[in-house]
Amino acid sequence: MIVGEFSLGTPILTVNESGRHVLVGSRCPVCGDVRLPSRTLCGADLSECVPHELSGEGTVYEAVRISLAPAGFEAPFWIGYIDLAEGPRYLAQIEADEDAPPSHGDRVTLTVGRLGTSAEPLLGPIFRKVTDAH
Ligand SMILES: [Zn+2]
Repeated sequence: MIVGEFSLGTPILTVNESGRHVLVGSRCPVCGDVRLPSRTLCGADLSECVPHELSGEGTVYEAVRISLAPAGFEAPFWIGYIDLAEGPRYLAQIEADEDAPPSHGDRVTLTVGRLGTSAEPLLGPIFRKVTDAH
């Protein structure tokens, strides 16, 4: 097993100096490969990666409506793969209205919200569709 494959134990969501929630992945200083969750070593050249703050902007690759909720969640809700602006594809919850479901190519941005219905609130990344203001 390659050490760089380990990513558990490193938080993906943190608060930056501006007080804003941001996703933090890793970036290879040699080839520029960005990953989320972060890696210790680059999968391409084994260079030691550094923490990298992501913009939280992306587009929906695909999304599915969860109508049968797992324990600790309330249905319905949407999850999907988000192609983040920096490159990684990340699976996350997507906030959407029932009459405006997320679809391939929709622009989304990071928000932070409560995941599930556990007694102790769990905050996590939730993406929201970007609507052009006119
Ligand atoms: Zn690299």
